[in-house]
Amino acid sequence: MGLSRHHIFPFVNLSGILPGLISILLSLAFLLLTSLQGNTTPILTLTFIDVGEGDAIYLENPGHCNFLIDTGNPKSGVKVLSTLVQMGISRIDHLILTHPHLDHMGGVFTVAQLLPVSRFYDNGEDLSLHSKTHDMARWYQDLVRKSPRYSVLKTGHRFECPPLTLEVLWPPRPSITKDWNTNSLVLMVSFGAFRCLLMADANLTTERELLKASAPLKAHILRVGHHGARDAASQAFLSAVSPEIAIISVDGGNIHGYPDPKTLRRIQESHARLFRTDRQGTITIQAHPDGTYRVFTERP
Ligand SMILES: [Zn+2]
Repeated sequence: MGLSRHHIFPFVNLSGILPGLISILLSLAFLLLTSLQGNTTPILTLTFIDVGEGDAIYLENPGHCNFLIDTGNPKSGVKVLSTLVQMGISRIDHLILTHPHLDHMGGVFTVAQLLPVSRFYDNGEDLSLHSKTHDMARWYQDLVRKSPRYSVLKTGHRFECPPLTLEVLWPPRPSITKDWNTNSLVLMVSFGAFRCLLMADANLTTERELLKASAPLKAHILRVGHHGARDAASQAFLSAVSPEIAIISVDGGNIHGYPDPKTLRRIQESHARLFRTDRQGTITIQAHPDGTYRVFTERP
């Protein structure tokens, strides 16, 4: 006695499941197409890491290049490193130190010794006097400036990583003034139509020079200069940048009294929406070449 077809496939009735099967296959094809599209649509990630006192910004054009701009202070360098490791970052292509103040370059001793760095850059500030009297300056020279992969940045230098461009707007030459903040590297990040202006500790003097030089300042996002101190973000500068979002990297209850209430008022009057690392924690921007972007914060 042979087995009937029904006995061999007791639970299968092809005519009954065919529509369902087609629907599942179509869904899988759609998911595959969506994920392929996701992999090819460029997204820029900008992460303003909450480093307490200081600054550290990670920038990534996924699959192409990444940048770390400043490294926090000697205490928070570990936090910068752990944040990058948690993000799955195993190498920094371009490590840029905007100026050699400790709240910006202090974390380099941790980050650059535990993560491979392809290239180092800074503003070429004259450290000759300091490296004889201050150990930190001497160690910085040893680790960063004596590296064969170190270069000085100045106005006009461009990093091209399509569609990402990073352009140095300031300074035109190293040690252009005696004030280290004024000499900070000012960087414009462009990603298609999206723009983000990074001011490091640049101040009113820098802002005046940039305005005088008719530098291209308009940006969706402004990382406010000098932690929102009273010598940053003049009304004229804010109106030239015309930011939708202003970000201040600052330590809560810091001894300097940053950010300054008058600076905050000017930002408020510019109608930019303000985010602060002391309140929102680490702030992440995801931007698209059409100029659209989304802001994510560690805390509401
Ligand atoms: Zn600073």
